[in-house]
Amino acid sequence: MEGPKAILLIGDGLGDRPVPELGFRTPLEAAEKPNMDRLAAEGECGIMDPIAPGVRAGSDTSHLALLGYDPYQCYTGRGPFEAAGIGMDVKRGDIAFRCNFSTVNDGMVVTDRRAGRITERTDQLAASVNGLEIEDVTCLFKESVAHRGALVLRGPGLGADVTDTDPHVENSKVHRSEPTNPDDSASAKTARIVNEFVRRSYEILKDHPVNKARMAAGQNPANIILPRGAGLAPHLTALNERCNITSACVAETGLIKGVAKYVGMKIVDVPEATGGLDSDIMAMGRAVVKALEDHSFVLCNVKGADVGGHDAKPQAKVEVIQRMDVMVGYLIENVDESTYIVLTADHSTPVSVKDHSGDPVPIAFWGPGVRVDDCRHFDERSVTKGGLHRIRGIDVMNILTQLMTVQEKFGA
Ligand code: ZN
Ligand code: ZN
Repeated sequence: MEGPKAILLIGDGLGDRPVPELGFRTPLEAAEKPNMDRLAAEGECGIMDPIAPGVRAGSDTSHLALLGYDPYQCYTGRGPFEAAGIGMDVKRGDIAFRCNFSTVNDGMVVTDRRAGRITERTDQLAASVNGLEIEDVTCLFKESVAHRGALVLRGPGLGADVTDTDPHVENSKVHRSEPTNPDDSASAKTARIVNEFVRRSYEILKDHPVNKARMAAGQNPANIILPRGAGLAPHLTALNERCNITSACVAETGLIKGVAKYVGMKIVDVPEATGGLDSDIMAMGRAVVKALEDHSFVLCNVKGADVGGHDAKPQAKVEVIQRMDVMVGYLIENVDESTYIVLTADHSTPVSVKDHSGDPVPIAFWGPGVRVDDCRHFDERSVTKGGLHRIRGIDVMNILTQLMTVQEKFGA
């Protein structure tokens, strides 16, 4: 494939704050990462607010922004992207939910939100409720990993502003879904359908052979499905069309794959990429180089740093960064001279916060023609000296596609 190409490499949750155990350095500052530093030294750097200054970004909203879609315009919940990520065909106007298989007693009290962390034969349970028709709405359901699944409601006049049926704690009754605004008749309809779906899921699943076998083996039955996190499936123009590129995505988590699939990217599966601290990051690097053979743009999300942040493990985060650095070295060695590499994060996950913070993240653009600046190191503080100064996630594709010379001119 001819013409400029680009890799957008995202270290999930890579950004951090000074960590006492690391001598008040951030994990990026503490890590040995000669290849990331090379991208910074030979590239143009800055800091980036994934959404806007101080806004704590989720991975889904951040990736939408990084791909050029304003999450404030298109995002009402993670349901549609989760559903797309497990291979469901989500259409504009659908209402999608994340779900758990759970265990309830006959008083509808949730005794186990994860149904004994069920891992087997959930496809059979899912098949028994998939396609239920309630009023004029079709209920599509598919299992995901372990006790998880997704529900998509398809039909006229549905709204997404409804409360969860999952009580989020055990020994509590299943909640009734309600519209958040009682005057919102579309969401009231959705709530009615969801409540009926939950009721029918119990009727169907309580005597399902899979659950009979589980009970006989002393395991909690997956006897109800509890939807939460409703989201309205937005209309998004395909990324390839918007940016004049052919795009692929190498990612570890269903949520990122879901966002990518939703905007029409080709999903490249890497079985060795587990999404954990032990993930085979080099296998992802090889998949990126391979995908560049027949795509002009590859997004790669490496999950590990976010895991280290959530788990409050600074050393684990440093190690993930160092392994990611080896992968960056492989990318540098294996791309041709017309290829751009953009290195950044989707948000900060400071080990002191154990969750996503609103701190900005470093970013470096590397490739032909970039205005090389004085920044020598890829970390949160060094890049503030860079020529990009402070940008937003939604700026990234504009900056990249004009470097790639595939962007249409705005005006005459
Ligand atoms: Zn993330
Ligand atoms: Zn996270």
